[in-house]
Amino acid sequence: MENTNEMKLIFDGRPVNEGLARVAVAAFCTQLNPTLEEVSDVKTAVSEAVTNSIIHGYEGEIHKIEMNCRLQENVLLVEIRDHGKGIPDVEKAMEPMYTTKPEADRSGMGFTFMEAFMDELDVESAVGKGTVVRMKKIIRR
Ligand code: ATP
Ligand code: MG
Repeated sequence: MENTNEMKLIFDGRPVNEGLARVAVAAFCTQLNPTLEEVSDVKTAVSEAVTNSIIHGYEGEIHKIEMNCRLQENVLLVEIRDHGKGIPDVEKAMEPMYTTKPEADRSGMGFTFMEAFMDELDVESAVGKGTVVRMKKIIRR
């Protein structure tokens, strides 16, 4: 298809790779000439999703996280996928301040930030199978 571009990154679910995912998505969307604010929004949302996969999905075990990015006209689509423990009630998990790890100083705001900083957010999850977070950002310039 014309005016599209795709990239896939597979990395270990280690905290050090949050930075890798942030920088990779930022570099990838540069071709749309985003504003600094748009880049910052995308990086924040990707960080939150990757952190969730590391902390909640894999709970410290090292397994792969997959990031699929696609540009279509002036729209960036990002998908973060893990094969971790999954979310029993996605609707509830997405509520502001809902966290299953209050003892670990989590504030339960990750999904709320993703929703605020991106134009669309969709979460698909199956217990014992894993989680896919799909986000869309319109680059308005
Ligand atoms: P914060 O992001 O503010 O540090 P948090 O991670 O608990 O806190 P959210 O990012 O909004 O808050 O996630 C809410 C809840 O959804 C988590 O506490 C966790 O139970 C569940 N969750 C989110 N992502 C995943 C995932 N990839 N795998 C399993 N559970 C997840
Ligand atoms: Mg979180």
